[in-house]
Amino acid sequence: MQDKNKLSQLISGNADDTMKSITSKVQEGTRISDEDAMYLYEKASLSQVGVLANYVRESKHGDKTYFNRNFHMEPTNVCLYTCTFCSYSRLIKKREEGWEYSLDDMMDIVKGYDEKEVTEVHIVGGVLPQYDVAFYTDLFKAIKAHRPDLHIKALTPVEYHYIFKKAKMSYQEGMEAMKAAGLDSMPGGGAEIFHPEVRDQIAGGKCSGDQWLEIHRIWHGLGMRSNATMLYGHIEEYRHRVDHMRQLRELQDDTKGFQTFIPLKFRNKGNQLSHLEETVVVEDLKNYAIARIYLDNFDHVKAYWPMIGRETAQLSLSFGVDDLDGTIDDTTKIYTMAGSEEQNPALSTEQLVQMIKRVNRHPIERDTLYNVMTDFKDVEFESDKEFKGYLQLPVINN
Ligand code: SF4
Repeated sequence: MQDKNKLSQLISGNADDTMKSITSKVQEGTRISDEDAMYLYEKASLSQVGVLANYVRESKHGDKTYFNRNFHMEPTNVCLYTCTFCSYSRLIKKREEGWEYSLDDMMDIVKGYDEKEVTEVHIVGGVLPQYDVAFYTDLFKAIKAHRPDLHIKALTPVEYHYIFKKAKMSYQEGMEAMKAAGLDSMPGGGAEIFHPEVRDQIAGGKCSGDQWLEIHRIWHGLGMRSNATMLYGHIEEYRHRVDHMRQLRELQDDTKGFQTFIPLKFRNKGNQLSHLEETVVVEDLKNYAIARIYLDNFDHVKAYWPMIGRETAQLSLSFGVDDLDGTIDDTTKIYTMAGSEEQNPALSTEQLVQMIKRVNRHPIERDTLYNVMTDFKDVEFESDKEFKGYLQLPVINN
C-alpha cells in the first residue's frame, strides 16, 4: 500500500524547503537530481528517506518481495589482482591456500544439483590466466548440454575485460561469443565505485568504471539483461556514491538493460582495509533508501542477505528493497570470508518465505528475469502454525 499520507505529512510538516521539494518530486514521479541525493545523504533523517523509498517501492511493487532458487560456483579464489577491500582472494604466490577448479570439478558441482529445483547458477571468482575465453565458453556449453533450463548468470566485466584482452578480442566479439556459448545474464559485480579517485585506490589494475559500463552497454545491445552493484562504506564519500549511481542511471536511460541494483556493504575482516570501521545499520538502510529514490529507472533494489544478515534484510524491505536474492545453499564464500553476519549462508525456501511474511510482505519466487515461479502469498507451511505473531506492545505518548 502506498504511503501517501505519510508523504503528505512530510511535505506539510517540519521538513525544510529542500526536503519538501524532493518529497513533491517523489510524489509526482519526477526524477531527483544529484544535489537532491547529496541532501538526502547529508541532511535527511532515516525516517524521511524511509518514507520516500517505501513510497517508490510500493508504487512499483506493492508488498511483493522476490527471491529465487540459485546456487553459486566459484572456479577459483586465487586472483592476480589485489583489490584492497577483498577478503576472498589469495595471491598467486600463495595459491596453495586457495582452490582452482577444473571444468570437470565445476560440472560435478552442477550435477550435484540435478535433483534440486534451482533455476539459476551464479558464477564468479578470481582472475587467473587458465580461466580464459575457451574455459568459460566450454563451461557454459557443458552446463547447457547437461541442463538446458538452468539460467547461467556469470562473470563480471572484471573477468571479461581480462579474458578478451588476452584473446585479442573486442568487447563486442567477446560478449557475442559468450552469448553463443549459453551465457544468459550478467551479475552486477566488479562495479565497486566507478570514480577513479576511489577506484584507483581500492581496485587498481582491473577494468575501469568506463570499461565496466561499456561491457554492460554491449551486453544490453545484444538484447540481454544484467545487474549493477555499488560497494560502499569504505574510503568513498557520498559524492562518489551519487556519481556512481548517476552513471548507472544514464546508461539505463540508453539501454534499459539493467534489472536490479544491489548495494554491497564493505566488510572489514581479513583485507587491507581492516582498519576502517564498517557502516552501521542506519547507514545501510539509508543507502538502500536513497538508491531506491534516485534510481527511478531501475525496477528492483536487492538486499543480499548473506552480507547484511537476516534481520537487517527484513528491515530493508521497508527502505526500498523488494528482492532478497536467493536461497543460497552455502555455496558462496565471498562474504563469509569478509566477516559477514552469515557464516553459513543457507536458507531453505520455507525459511526465506517466513522471513518475508513476518514483516508483512508478499513472497514471490521468481526466475532470474523476474518471471513468477511460485506465489507464496497463501501457501502455509507446517511451521507457520507455531508462529503466533509478535506481541502487541502498548504505545505510550509522553
Ligand atoms: S575483488 Fe575480485 S578482482 Fe579484486 S582481488 Fe578480489 S577476486 Fe580479484
